[in-house]
Amino acid sequence: MEFIREYANWFYLIGAILFILTLRGLSGPKTAIAGNRYGMLAMAIAVLTTFFVAENPVIWMILGAMVLGAIVGIARAKTVPMTQMPETVALMHSLVGLSAVLIAIAAIIHNNKLIELGPDLLAANRVTFHEMSKVHLFELFVGCFVGAITFTASVFAYGKLAAKKWAKTISGAWVKPVQALIFIAMLAAGIHFFLTGNMTSFWAMTGLALVFGWVWIAPVGGGDMPVVVSLLNSFSGWAAAGIGFTLENNMLIVAGSLVGSSGAILSYIMCKAMNRSIINVLFGGAMGGTATATAGAGEQVQRNHRSGSADDAGFLMSNADSVVIVPGYGMAQGRAQNAVKELANLLKEQGVTVRFAIHPVAGRMPGHMNVLLAEADVPYEDILEMDEINSDFPATDVVLVIGANDVVNPAAKDDPSSPIYGMPILEAHKARTILVIKRSMATGYAGLDNDLFYNDKTMMIFGDAKKVVEDMTKAINGTGH
Ligand code: NDP
Repeated sequence: MEFIREYANWFYLIGAILFILTLRGLSGPKTAIAGNRYGMLAMAIAVLTTFFVAENPVIWMILGAMVLGAIVGIARAKTVPMTQMPETVALMHSLVGLSAVLIAIAAIIHNNKLIELGPDLLAANRVTFHEMSKVHLFELFVGCFVGAITFTASVFAYGKLAAKKWAKTISGAWVKPVQALIFIAMLAAGIHFFLTGNMTSFWAMTGLALVFGWVWIAPVGGGDMPVVVSLLNSFSGWAAAGIGFTLENNMLIVAGSLVGSSGAILSYIMCKAMNRSIINVLFGGAMGGTATATAGAGEQVQRNHRSGSADDAGFLMSNADSVVIVPGYGMAQGRAQNAVKELANLLKEQGVTVRFAIHPVAGRMPGHMNVLLAEADVPYEDILEMDEINSDFPATDVVLVIGANDVVNPAAKDDPSSPIYGMPILEAHKARTILVIKRSMATGYAGLDNDLFYNDKTMMIFGDAKKVVEDMTKAINGTGH
């Protein structure tokens, strides 16, 4: 026991190195499993070491909370469908934010209680007490408000992604001034607390930060939600690092900073993929015009599209030299990934070159399509990112779009008035023949009509992704190619 306490920082250092290896591992599908294992090991080392470092830990409370958390976590992990992962992730971020707030509150209440007891009683009970330094108050101030903002913003993001009625997008000219007012009031209260240690200011700051988190995220358009979720991931990391300072725990500072910075890098990459600036994502919505808020509300013009059957599509694909499959949210929703893999295998057996094209924001979370295709054991070398495949579309015989919509919408390239103008897309419209599987002519996440579906080269195959893909496979098998 004494040994672990004495060498605690060495154990933490090992944990930190393992966390870095975790992030490195998670950056590629081949190394992701090893990355996860490093992460589990690092977490076990971090938690166990902390048991020995903590002063007078109330073991039954900690273990009780851990067992309870583990039961809820395991139950959720076993039951959550892939399609609900983004909102689950958002909810998890909210818990990190909440714990930062609760720890800050506990640290302050604990400190005040010690002051109330007075130096004599403390000395009699052999409790050492140091007046909170300015640095300590600053850590509490920052950790608490970042945590509070992360908490309510993540709860809103959860509600929005899960399409809950209470998570309504707000818009209008009043939003920005109100946001600014709450933010300034929050800062003022926080600075007053920092300077004087006044508890009323502390509670006011915390309350205002909770409200700010909500009104800050509520105007953000649905199309920008992926960036927001990744940014909240980053915030939850910084909040954890803040708690690390409060608790004087090096491991938490390092792990929190790693999450914070990797989340920030991911947000930057996603913004680049959508051709948006982070400022625009976070504050653009308050101007009242985002893709989701405004799109699709215009006049409904009747346009013609061509539809066909799974048999027709099967015939076209089995006679092609090259097929590129573009999966989107609909493949996840229809749980079609295994059926898609079988179709791809069958086509390959018949000599067709089959590849998968992945857009960075396809689906509802970063890496959503990669995860599904990996789950179905699609070989990594068949999966290409947007930059790698885009130049190949003009030479592709058939592109098969499975439940994707926004990520193949040519308006992003051709229509300056479109809310998604400038977002890079998979240029499926350049292929020789385009097959699109979806259930109707309905819009996708951004609520925009899609010219691709009305293109002369496009054939729509209506139905649930899994059923249609299975029918295509049957049709190709039936032709005996
Ligand atoms: P979209 O949401 O644009 O379109 C999905 C399409 O799939 C819909 O038009 C729908 O049409 C169809 N569909 C749904 N269910 C089924 C089913 N069971 N079978 C067949 N088709 C189905 O998806 P994309 O992947 O193209 O784009 C992702 C969008 O989500 C982007 O706007 C992105 O910004 C946003 N987003 C991305 C996140 C991320 O991190 N990746 C997170 C949050 C949002 P129909 O109803 O007619 O079947």
